[in-house]
Amino acid sequence: MSSKSKWVYIFNEVEQAEKYVDGEWEAVRGLLGGKGANLAEMTRLKVPVPPGFTLTTEACNAYLAAGENFPEGMWEQALEALKAVESATGKKFGDKKNPLLVSCRSGGKFSMPGMMDTVLNIGLNDDTAKAMIQLTGDERFVYDLYRRLVQMFGSVVMGIPDEPFEEVITRTRRKAGVKSDAELTAEDWQKVTADFKNIYKHHTHRSFPSDPLLQLRKATEAVFKSWNGKRAVDYRNAAGIAHDLGTAVNIQTMIFGNMGDNSATGVAMTRNASTGEKHIEGDYLMNAQGEDVVAGIRLTNDIKELKKDLPDAYAQFEQICENLEKHYRDMQDVEFTVENGRLWMLQTRDGKRTAQAAVRIAVDMVEEGLISKEEAVLRVSPDQIDFFLHPQFDIQSKQKAHSSGSFLAKGLNVSPGAAVGIVAFDADRAEKWAKDEGKDVIMVRPETKPDDVHGMLAAEGILTSRGGRTSHAALVARQFGTPAVVGVSSLEIDLANRRMHVGNQVIKEGDWISIDGTAGEVYLGKLETMVPDIKDPWLLKLLLWADEFRRLGVWANADYPKDAERAREYGAQGIGLCRTEHMFFEAERLPHVQKMIMTDLPRERQEALAAILPFQREDFIGIFRAMDGLPVIIRLIDPPLHEFLPNRFDLMHELFDLKIRLQHTANLAQVDDLLEQIRQKETILKRVESLHEANPMLGLRGVRLGIQIPELTTMQVRAIFEAACAVSKEDVVVHPEVMIPLTSHVNELKIQRQALESEAKKVMDEQGIKIDYKFGTMIEIPRAAITADEIAEYAQFISFGTNDLTQTTFGISRDDAEAGFLMQYISTGVLPENPFAVIDPNGVGELMRIAVTKGRSVNPDLECGICGEHGGDPESILLCHELGLTYVSCSPFRVPIARLAAAHAALQGRITKDQ
Ligand code: ADP
Ligand code: MG
Ligand code: MG
Repeated sequence: MSSKSKWVYIFNEVEQAEKYVDGEWEAVRGLLGGKGANLAEMTRLKVPVPPGFTLTTEACNAYLAAGENFPEGMWEQALEALKAVESATGKKFGDKKNPLLVSCRSGGKFSMPGMMDTVLNIGLNDDTAKAMIQLTGDERFVYDLYRRLVQMFGSVVMGIPDEPFEEVITRTRRKAGVKSDAELTAEDWQKVTADFKNIYKHHTHRSFPSDPLLQLRKATEAVFKSWNGKRAVDYRNAAGIAHDLGTAVNIQTMIFGNMGDNSATGVAMTRNASTGEKHIEGDYLMNAQGEDVVAGIRLTNDIKELKKDLPDAYAQFEQICENLEKHYRDMQDVEFTVENGRLWMLQTRDGKRTAQAAVRIAVDMVEEGLISKEEAVLRVSPDQIDFFLHPQFDIQSKQKAHSSGSFLAKGLNVSPGAAVGIVAFDADRAEKWAKDEGKDVIMVRPETKPDDVHGMLAAEGILTSRGGRTSHAALVARQFGTPAVVGVSSLEIDLANRRMHVGNQVIKEGDWISIDGTAGEVYLGKLETMVPDIKDPWLLKLLLWADEFRRLGVWANADYPKDAERAREYGAQGIGLCRTEHMFFEAERLPHVQKMIMTDLPRERQEALAAILPFQREDFIGIFRAMDGLPVIIRLIDPPLHEFLPNRFDLMHELFDLKIRLQHTANLAQVDDLLEQIRQKETILKRVESLHEANPMLGLRGVRLGIQIPELTTMQVRAIFEAACAVSKEDVVVHPEVMIPLTSHVNELKIQRQALESEAKKVMDEQGIKIDYKFGTMIEIPRAAITADEIAEYAQFISFGTNDLTQTTFGISRDDAEAGFLMQYISTGVLPENPFAVIDPNGVGELMRIAVTKGRSVNPDLECGICGEHGGDPESILLCHELGLTYVSCSPFRVPIARLAAAHAALQGRITKDQ
């Protein structure tokens, strides 16, 4: 850049800055930093801002690039700007009569803890201090400023630790026999200032610089250098902020909130940042300077009191807050100072807020005419919706727990929300305590299995010491919205003695614990929770607006009527996946299922299936009732048969035990009995062994089962259609869609379709009712995706089972990989992201694109959906939108999130098109 480059902008030169960056406000923020840009903008809005100027981020970058030398012309421009400030204030920097004091404030494009702190009161030395005393007649005030300068300059610019300074003050208080700084006299502060200068000299081997310009120059350089400081670099790495942005420096006339009882300083939010309510929230201190409010040394006052303390200043402040909100069209976080009754604004920026406040503020602002509905929808992130679905721990209660040492351990945050309960170490006890005794229970296991589900359902929360994000515990917890923390490796569970420990903390069964599934934390004892409300009226309104904008349908995965009801309540427009596995697993049904698997006789198999049918019919009736008028996709049985039989090793153990007992029998009747038992077990074991597969994921499951045992398909179809006919008679409107899992070749579908249609027709003829139904398949094998045109000849809909499709596309077994190499792949960047959490766009996504295109080339009306877990992931939803899917289907608890994410996808598409 040439020597004519403009490195410095006075606060009233915002137009020049805009021109330089071609009018983009984001670019102005980039040039002047967030703080500087808003100080300039407020100046333009005629908000009272103490005069000052900004050294640009470009100046910072040039300084660092030149080996820590100011770029040519920069310091001259700064001195020019200082002159302009002098004439605006009528004061002079370093003057012995009417000295100007300034602050030096850092500020990059994004606010960044870890950057250099602010130095206040620059320009003070023994001479200017005297002049200030002359002017104000307040020696105490001036020496208080002076000692602050020496300390801040010392610590911020020269890196001197705070302790020696603090020691001096403590000693001084003790000597004076007073409790607070406010009681110290002018002489005390004068002495403190002198002591501070000695500390400065001791640490830096130099005298405190008395030249105001040198003070200013050194402070400026320190801000520039702090951009590359370790703290700042670490923070940027963590927050994903670019390293080449640089920081700006703001030099600004000092305003004194510590000039007496007519002065004050404070911070405020223009709305309540926790609830979003529309009223100013904040804290202030009378007779105090800058940092004092946030430093927490003195007890602050509620901003409401300011109305009484300084009524005129407060009225003006209120007006300014309103104007700033109107101008920035968002809630603002502001800093202000009142000097002798006169109000000055020192900072404004968009305020940080909780999820609840974000929703309410976005909706309120639409109603106040400040923003459009589209903007409101885009301002809330899908993840923020999650907040409304689960109880959360009160922040203060958590802080207290940390400081009192009741924080126990951290694990994986697999299912959000807060849960408090007593520890139960097995499913039966968890269920008994919860159901029979009405206790709140946290079920704790090393890991969970399908036969633990009854306990998991009864529990408030689930905690395991092993397992990953896709462990059984994690999946079940998410499906039912139960808070869960898994993989807490520091937790040692001693099931035999019914206790667990973390380090030397011992927790017995029945003790209270609290788990935070949002953060993955475990606490001892009961933490306070607060329950956000899914019926929050602002949230409901926002979601209705989101529905106006989205093009994707949002359906839910629900296996039980209770899930279906919840899904509907949350806004689901259909069931995209009703799994039927559980309809085989339940206690009264499992014996029939096992009999069906064990027998080779067609008649016995028929009998077994006939016994299961009425149960399944009832299940379907419940779901159809809940989904009156909406489509329900039912997937026929999917898992390999061995899952319904006892475990092979358990059986071998039991056999072994029986044989041992046989050796110790006393009478023949017992021998007969034992022999009979052994024979039975051996038959089962034989069957289990014959069903054993080296690779069950790729074995006899899904449609392959239906082809192998056609009676299974027929029974399920009969149950579905009998249920559909039954509810039709109650005037419930049913749209069943029967889905075949794991198809890889169109012939499989042809065969199943034939079996299905003839059975469906039979039932409808028997009942004399016509049911409007569809037949389709899951796409979870690459071959099926690639041949979707052939498949579309026989399927009226396809649904991407992206869990299996990801496994089969990558050739990765998820359960094995997530516990093993996959996490390492992700952390070392071999894979950019976990493909089981976010759809892999170039592989799996591309297969989906091929399937949709080929499928719709044959049948333009082909309904295309997704029912894998990805259907609830915002990034994957964006991809589904781009692929033109008909709907996404996800867990009921993610339905509201998906509604918003689908709207974002549509609106973002619209925005990029507009550009
Ligand atoms: P931070 O980014 O840490 O908030 P700031 O630059 O905003 O740092 O300043 C820290 C404190 O000093 C704030 O309370 C701010 O209002 C106050 N302050 C900064 N400059 C001045 C000034 N010129 N006059 C009065 N107070 C100031
Ligand atoms: Mg600030
Ligand atoms: Mg599958």
